Amino acid sequence: MLTVRDLKVHFPITKGVIFDRVVGAVRAVDGVDLSIPDGATLGLVGESGCGKSTVGKAILRLVPLTSGVVRFDDIELSALEGEALRTARRNVQMIFQDPYASLDPRQNVESILAEPVRTHGLRTGDKIGTRVRELLDSVGLPRSAAGRYPHEFSGGQRQRIGIARALAAEPKLIIADEPVSALDVSIQAQVVNLLADLQEQLGLTYLFISHDLAIVRHIADDVAVMYLGGIVETTSAEQLYTTPLHPYTLALLSAVPVPDPLIEDTRRRTVLQGDLPSPANPPSGCRFHTRCIYVRDRCTAERPPLREVEPGHFAACHFAEEIAVSIRNTDSTTG
Ligand code: SF4
Repeated sequence: MLTVRDLKVHFPITKGVIFDRVVGAVRAVDGVDLSIPDGATLGLVGESGCGKSTVGKAILRLVPLTSGVVRFDDIELSALEGEALRTARRNVQMIFQDPYASLDPRQNVESILAEPVRTHGLRTGDKIGTRVRELLDSVGLPRSAAGRYPHEFSGGQRQRIGIARALAAEPKLIIADEPVSALDVSIQAQVVNLLADLQEQLGLTYLFISHDLAIVRHIADDVAVMYLGGIVETTSAEQLYTTPLHPYTLALLSAVPVPDPLIEDTRRRTVLQGDLPSPANPPSGCRFHTRCIYVRDRCTAERPPLREVEPGHFAACHFAEEIAVSIRNTDSTTG
């Protein structure tokens, strides 16, 4: 089980010619709580710049934490340093958006995959080669791929190499940061299906970070929606896609195309106005108030906490109950 409590990652803004002084902070992550049960997938969604990738990096301690607790399998990752952190990290691996940038172009696939196996002491001697072949099989690449270099593969194949490299360390948790957004639409489904198959075979737990709600729907058990450094809604994928409660989630969902042209032409849309405000200077009160069509006086003064609005369904909005009723009434009248 992964649990994240009140996670904050603030990057200082400094100014000065000779002596730097801190004049502010970019609040990339500002009080995030998450939990993922063993073997489940949490989809973390939001616009580009909302802080979701920073959450993934903070869990792995790839960026300095300002405060908060990250715990995985009774180990408090946020309290570890040095060798203890390196050892614990074997259980948590990352798949990156750009497989080409994350693979060393001078190493062939065999060395790329053998390195984590050797580093973590998981196999020795001839057994390392056997493990490399197993990893290639598990991600659907031919064994002949072992002697080739990253530039000789397509984008989808390179992402399969990235997945195999993550699996090489035999992790329990995988943080997949936009793992298919750099791929052709035709290849995206294949890679998502591969991740789902591997999860079933190996009992993996996933944090699946994406801006694409349609993709997340296919793989996630639960979804957390992030806006300007905080979680604004979280529940099961089923609930989120059928009965969203937060105005931001509604806007994101209404931008997802529906395959049926009849529904697509007639459905009600909530268009998201303006750009994401700067996390260095977030709006007062509810951070979404500058773009929310339901905004009222209270929203600018008081930051809404993430609260359980319906059983198992949490939203950070003062008026979530009212908004939910009005949406359901509109849906029932428009048919
Ligand atoms: Fe909109 Fe107010 Fe709810 Fe924020 S608290 S989402 S501004 S209605």
